[in-house]
Amino acid sequence: MNIALIAHDKKKELMVQFCIAYKGILVKHNLIATGTTGGLIIDATGLSVHKFLSGPQGGDQQIGARIAYNEIDLVLFFRDPLTNQSHEPEVEPLLKLCDIHNVPIATNMATAEVLVRGLDRGDMDWRDIVNPKNNKNN
Ligand code: PGA
Repeated sequence: MNIALIAHDKKKELMVQFCIAYKGILVKHNLIATGTTGGLIIDATGLSVHKFLSGPQGGDQQIGARIAYNEIDLVLFFRDPLTNQSHEPEVEPLLKLCDIHNVPIATNMATAEVLVRGLDRGDMDWRDIVNPKNNKNN
C-alpha cells in the first residue's frame, strides 16, 4: 500500500513517535511524506520515505494530486487545529479528495493507530483490487 504521512509542526514529534512505534508495520509499505515530516521520520526510524516538497511549498498539493490519481491508499495527516497555518487553505482540498476517492484518512494519532492496525490485519486489502499496482510486492 502507498501511505502518505503529513504532520503540522507541533505534531511532528508525535508523528515521529508514531512511526517508531509502528515501524514494523510501516516498513512493509511504500511511504511518502511532505518534505520536513519525511526527513524527520527518515532520521528517527531509518524507514525509506519518498519526500515531496515541504507542505507550505506545495507538498500537500503534490500528495493531493496523487490521491486524485488514486495512487494513495491511506493518509495519516496529524493536523494542528490550534495553530494558524500559512498553507491552511490546502488542508481542506486534501480531506475533500480523500472523501471523493474513498481513501481512509486519519487526522489524529488515535485514529491513525486504528487504521494502521487495521491495515496490518488486512482490513484495507480491498485497495489492492481498486488499484493493484499500489502493492509493494507487485
Ligand atoms: P512539512 O509539511 O512536513 O514539509 O512541514 C507539512 C505541512 O503541511 O505542514
